[in-house]
Amino acid sequence: MVKSYDAIIVGAGPGGIFAAYEFKEKCPDMKILVIEKGRSIEKRQCPKRITGVCAHCQPCSITTGFAGAGAFSDGKLSLSPDVGGNLPEILGYDAATKLIHESDEIYLKFGADKSVYGVDKEKEIREIRRKAIGADLKLVECPIRHLGTEEGYKIYSKLQKHLEASGVELMFNSPVAQIHISDGKVTGVTTEKGDTFNSDRVIIAVGRDGADWFKDVCIDLGIETKPGTVDVGVRVEVRDEVMQFLNENLYEAKLIYHTPTFDDKVRTFCTNPSGEVAAEYYDDNLAVVNGHAYKAQEFKTSNTNFALLVSKNFTKPFKTPIEYGKMIAQLSNMLCGGRILVQTYGDFKRGRRTTDERLCRNNLIPTLKDAVPGDLSLVFPHRIMVDLDEMIQALDKVTPGIASEETLMYGVEVKFYSNKVIVDKNFETSIKGLYAIGDGAGVTRGLQQASANGISVARSIMASRS
Ligand SMILES: Cc1cc2nc3c(=O)[nH]c(=O)nc-3n(C[C@H](O)[C@H](O)[C@H](O)COP(=O)(O)OP(=O)(O)OC[C@H]3O[C@@H](n4cnc5c(N)ncnc54)[C@H](O)[C@@H]3O)c2cc1C
Repeated sequence: MVKSYDAIIVGAGPGGIFAAYEFKEKCPDMKILVIEKGRSIEKRQCPKRITGVCAHCQPCSITTGFAGAGAFSDGKLSLSPDVGGNLPEILGYDAATKLIHESDEIYLKFGADKSVYGVDKEKEIREIRRKAIGADLKLVECPIRHLGTEEGYKIYSKLQKHLEASGVELMFNSPVAQIHISDGKVTGVTTEKGDTFNSDRVIIAVGRDGADWFKDVCIDLGIETKPGTVDVGVRVEVRDEVMQFLNENLYEAKLIYHTPTFDDKVRTFCTNPSGEVAAEYYDDNLAVVNGHAYKAQEFKTSNTNFALLVSKNFTKPFKTPIEYGKMIAQLSNMLCGGRILVQTYGDFKRGRRTTDERLCRNNLIPTLKDAVPGDLSLVFPHRIMVDLDEMIQALDKVTPGIASEETLMYGVEVKFYSNKVIVDKNFETSIKGLYAIGDGAGVTRGLQQASANGISVARSIMASRS
């Protein structure tokens, strides 16, 4: 017999977890099923963390499983609605602020570090802003709570136990393949294994990993979408000393630049003081670069890494932002045998390949050990190369040393922002009872807004039942 639920959540990332949590907090009797493509959190193990080499697990333990892309993330919670998604546009600024505060309280309840970076250093922040203004950079103020990779993992482990104890059914290793619709209303889902579950409320919270699948679903079901932004660029690695003032006072300096030549938006993103550059792999073994930092002293490195992302919004007839980003990453993978490319800024400026020999004598040692020395100009369009170079020169005025010969640039960092699914303020799509939230719907881009989005969609559904 096909089982029925009050709500089905597809995807157990922060969005799905916080939706399930909110349902059980407010309506403990609701029958909730969470269907997740990846493994339960205790079974999520990335072999690369031990061997240093990616084993191309299917599905990837870094991006799938309980806690989604959040489980091994650096766990930087952005406490401002200005960062990490479009909740303010959909819900209004005040409502988004309140939700972010509420989801933050849940992280604190489950053990998040109480300290917040970027709130008590007014004098120092004014100094950073003054330099940023001098370089035509905008400093976005965003207090940060840093979970750290290992503490974040523990917090999500506690959340998994809590959901299980509250009666939420968690089904792992079960990618959802189909969404069923009848008379314009959702009726249930079927997994790849062929198991069907019924519900007239289905939340799609599949993150970036599931965005391709959901895009196809939207086409099949006629759900309206609009092209998302393409964010593509590099991860920059420098010594901690170069970023020390910014790291100590802001933890994460969010700086935005509109480049002089092309007027493109370039921003810094996801800074990891004393962190490591990491490769992450998507379903088709596509290697893209990322970074994280451990909280524990013994895992800290002497380098800071951060992303430099060029944001492009294309117009008609373009409608495939994810494919565009993937094609650029594929080019880099093709040149590097499926691994991440690294180039020194000195070689980048001169337009020549970084060789093994030059990397070996570079003053700065890469933290991503299996990165392949190469030439980013064979990967990026000219326009993106110019944007990155101009941004590095502007940043050098705020924190001198970034534009040094030894600075490392890893490619390709790409953020797969899905096409934005058109949703109303309840996050309901044009199909009645079908809700789309989080990164996979193009609504959010970070842990805190994805979590807040989970809370808000659960509330919308509970309100619609009463
Ligand atoms: C390495 C890394 C570091 C990051 N660091 C930070 C950070 O420091 N701060 C920050 O704010 N953000 C960070 N992020 C981004 C953050 O992790 C995401 O914004 C957030 O996890 C999005 O939450 P979500 O619930 O929308 O999706 P996800 O966390 O991606 O979860 C979606 C889940 O859906 C599952 N799924 C996909 N398709 C299906 C399907 N068909 N059926 C069933 N399940 C499916 C996936 O397996 C996944 O578990 C990082 C991301 C990565 C990869």
